[in-house]
Amino acid sequence: MPTSKKAAPAVVLPVLDGEDPWTAEEVEEQRAELQEELERVERRIAATEAELESLLKGGTDGAGRDPADVGSSNFERDQEVSLAANVKEMAEQLHLAISRFDDGGYGLCEVCGQPIGKGRLQVFPRATLCVTCKQREERR
Ligand SMILES: [Zn+2]
Repeated sequence: MPTSKKAAPAVVLPVLDGEDPWTAEEVEEQRAELQEELERVERRIAATEAELESLLKGGTDGAGRDPADVGSSNFERDQEVSLAANVKEMAEQLHLAISRFDDGGYGLCEVCGQPIGKGRLQVFPRATLCVTCKQREERR
């Protein structure tokens, strides 16, 4: 079956009441944005892991170092560890968003099933919660 023909995107993304429907171009841009963000995040994961590895190695020959240096490198390492966890979570969200984009369900809140909203998705392409559910989650 020939797949070379570029079909118009069949993806219909939900909008909130009062928002303009997504145009085919906007849908395509949104998909491209997710893909680009995933690539950026994956590069950051690679960079963070390399950095973390060198910090961990540096930590083993701490003898003779100024205690203040050791303290700051521990702090730096902790920062890197939490940064690494954050970017990995971001990558997971992006993978999820892309698979939902392709399989359907992108743009609907994971919790309540209501549209997340076009405006919000254009600012946060990987958003999986509507504003209401997001705020509820943050208050937990
Ligand atoms: Zn919701």
